[in-house]
Amino acid sequence: VKWFGDPWPSDELRASVCESPNDRVGTPEGEPCLWCDEPIAENDRGVILPVGDLDSDGRFFTTIRPCHIECNVRSVVGSLDHLTGHCSCSGKEPVSGLSSREDALAVWDWVQSHG
Ligand SMILES: [Zn+2]
Ligand SMILES: [Zn+2]
Repeated sequence: VKWFGDPWPSDELRASVCESPNDRVGTPEGEPCLWCDEPIAENDRGVILPVGDLDSDGRFFTTIRPCHIECNVRSVVGSLDHLTGHCSCSGKEPVSGLSSREDALAVWDWVQSHG
């Protein structure tokens, strides 16, 4: 997997995805994040993912899309409301009212402190 930005969570303690400097690519500044749709900013960190889609003739093709690392984690673990038991899975209404990007940053913090 290609990654961009500073290594996370820190330069010394790298997550397996950003272990190899050979896989590091330039930050795709201005391209929309696959998950939150907000443009990647100069100092953002993330990965480049292959995404499958169907063209107008129904043929399968793959494109590569950048995404924020925080948004990618959220896509795996779920929203903050989900993690804290405030979503439809628990039969409750969401409470956070955050945008996807804000929620992803909140989830990132939650994961760092809860493991
Ligand atoms: Zn994002
Ligand atoms: Zn849920």
